[in-house]
Amino acid sequence: MKIHVCVKQVPASNETLLDPVTHTIIREGTQSILNPFDAYAVEEAVRIKARCGGTVTAFTMGIPAAEGILRRVIAVGADDAVLLTDRAFAGSDTLATARTLAAAIRKKGMPDLILCGKMATDGDTAQVGPMLAECLSIPHISDVAEIESVNEEKCTVRKMTDDGYVRLEVRLPALLTVLKEINIPRLPSVSGVLRGEKAGVGRMTREDLGIDPETTGLKGSATRVVSTERPVPARETVWIEGTPEAQAGQLKALLREEKIC
Ligand SMILES: Cc1cc2nc3c(=O)[nH]c(=O)nc-3n(C[C@H](O)[C@H](O)[C@H](O)COP(=O)(O)OP(=O)(O)OC[C@H]3O[C@@H](n4cnc5c(N)ncnc54)[C@H](O)[C@@H]3O)c2cc1C
Repeated sequence: MKIHVCVKQVPASNETLLDPVTHTIIREGTQSILNPFDAYAVEEAVRIKARCGGTVTAFTMGIPAAEGILRRVIAVGADDAVLLTDRAFAGSDTLATARTLAAAIRKKGMPDLILCGKMATDGDTAQVGPMLAECLSIPHISDVAEIESVNEEKCTVRKMTDDGYVRLEVRLPALLTVLKEINIPRLPSVSGVLRGEKAGVGRMTREDLGIDPETTGLKGSATRVVSTERPVPARETVWIEGTPEAQAGQLKALLREEKIC
C-alpha cells in the first residue's frame, strides 16, 4: 500500500510571531516543531504499513529548515520525504497550500491513501486536508478517530461528529484527516534518529512542480489575512505563593472577596 502523509512545521511556542505587514507567520529564526496533530497521522501511516506492507512518504511545504521535521518523520518509520520549498510558495493560504501539495503528490505518483492531521496549531483552519482531496479529485473523511480496516480497495473508519461517531466506508484512493485519539505516537529510537539523519530528503521547487506562479504563494491565494490582534486578557491574574496552607487561606479569602464562596 502506498501511503502519503502531509506534515507541517509549526512554531514551538503558543506565542506565534506574525509579520506586522504581511500578517504571515515569521518562521525564520523561531523554534519550530512537527505540528502535533501530524504526529498522529504519521503514526497511523507507519502502523498501516506494518500491517499491509508498502511505503510511507512524507510531504511538507515550508522553509528549508522544515527538513528537520521530515528527518524526524523518517526516524519514526516513514521511508522517504519531500520538502517543497521555494520563495514562490511563501504566504500561501490554505488553497494555495493545497494546490502546491497536490502538484507534488501528482508528480510523485498518486498513493492509495493520504493522511493529514486534523489541523495545524498555527493557522488552525483544518482546511488543507479537505482542499487537497478536492484538488486531487479524490474523496476524503475528516476527523477520523479510528481506522477499523483498510485494504488496497477501501477503508472503514470511525469518524467523530458533533453528536458522537459514525462508521464510514470510503473507496481508495482517499484522504483522511485524523484526530488525537486515533493512536499514541511512538518516540523515535536511536537507530531511527540515525536513519533520519542519514536519509536523503528530496526537494521540489515551483519549477520542478511545473505550477503557474499565479496559483501558489501570496499571489495564488484566494484569501489574505488583513489584520491580526491579540485578545486583551479579560481577567486579572493573581499569583498565590507560600506554603500550601498559606495558599489555601489566601485562596479562600480571595474567593470570599469575589463572593464565590
Ligand atoms: C493568523 C492566521 C490566520 C489565517 N487564516 C487563514 C484563513 O482564514 N484562510 C486561509 O486560507 N489561510 C489562513 N491562514 C494561512 C494558513 O495558515 C496557511 O495557508 C497554512 O499554510 C495552512 O493552513 P493551516 O495552518 O490552517 O492548516 P490546516 O488546514 O489547519 O492543516 C491541516 C493539515 O493539513 C496539512 N498541512 C497544512 N499545511 C501544510 C504544509 N505547509 N505542508 C504539508 N502539510 C500541510 C497537515 O497535515 C495539517 O495537519 C492564516 C494564517 C495565519 C497566520
